[in-house]
Amino acid sequence: MELLTDPFGRVHDYMRISVTDRCNLRCIYCMPAEGMQFQPHDEILSYEEIASIVKALAPAGLRKIRLTGGEPLVRRDLERLVEMLAGIPGIEDLSLTTNGLLLPGKAASLKAAGLSRVNISIDSLRQERFAMITRGGEVAKVLKGIEAAQAAGLSPIKLNVVLMKGINDDEIKDFVALTLNNPLNVRFIEYMPIGSATDTWRQTYLPLERVLEACREAGWETEPAHSSAGGGPSQDRRVAGAQGTFGLIHPVSEHFCDNCNRLRLTADGHIKACLYWSDEYNVRPLADDPEAVRALFRKALAGKPHNHEMALALEKKAQSHTPTARRMSQIGG
Ligand code: SAM
Ligand code: SF4
Repeated sequence: MELLTDPFGRVHDYMRISVTDRCNLRCIYCMPAEGMQFQPHDEILSYEEIASIVKALAPAGLRKIRLTGGEPLVRRDLERLVEMLAGIPGIEDLSLTTNGLLLPGKAASLKAAGLSRVNISIDSLRQERFAMITRGGEVAKVLKGIEAAQAAGLSPIKLNVVLMKGINDDEIKDFVALTLNNPLNVRFIEYMPIGSATDTWRQTYLPLERVLEACREAGWETEPAHSSAGGGPSQDRRVAGAQGTFGLIHPVSEHFCDNCNRLRLTADGHIKACLYWSDEYNVRPLADDPEAVRALFRKALAGKPHNHEMALALEKKAQSHTPTARRMSQIGG
């Protein structure tokens, strides 16, 4: 069967599926402090609908799935979805992005249901600051979540750190130090102007060259490392002799659009061919018709722009399409 290809010859074998727009945190770069309107439960895709969509796409070359949100672990019985997706022929890699808070009670059952690995978001190792960034979270709970994921054999474990000038850039060394004696992959991610793109973003955006500078200041020599499973756009490096690695993900300062292989499915059933733009297609009414599902994904890909224009947003220039009004918590990152 024909693969999921766009007009630029990019083959799409990876889909990020948001299973909920709700969350038990309110990170400053992702959601407003209050007043967030959540989608009613009956507007959210059921697990059966998600599995039908994935079943329709697997014969067209979909191989990798990442569950995200909002916070995916606040959706009840996520293990049931994991089991359904892990059993679909062709799906080789099933991963999850989470804030880690609920992992201690769920890591083992998720692993048993067929989850391969997790990415855990943690933007500070210092409690006061973590609480400020997440508006109330406890970093000790995330650290317990990381331990639970390790104990359950969810591997490799990647930690996502959104780097923000004047907020957590003085912790780069502490995060890289975590990789010295622990087989973790710490991924520094540039702050993206999505949905809540505001002056805060202009003030706190920091290009990731700063990470390599901080390593040099610490006297660490670093070398390129092989990308771990599902490495995607991360440029991985290792401090000489370290057990773990760290990666740089530069969505803003260095586009990785040339090699984009990603599709996104929002919790309310909309296909997004690109994270940044507002173009969306509602696949929910077609979920039980595989031909129609594939046709709509192909239509979404036919209109996929070559690249996002986040860096132009930084310079306040006009953009070629309309940027999405959705928050990151509604798209899934
Ligand atoms: N709640 C889960 C979590 O925090 O890992 C999954 C959803 S969250 C939207 C997915 C990822 O997007 C997280 O790693 C988060 O840090 C990242 N993210 C959210 N808003 C962002 C932004 N404006 N720029 C860069 N990354 C962002
Ligand atoms: Fe919730 Fe994740 Fe967004 Fe933080 S980044 S508010 S944990 S969805």
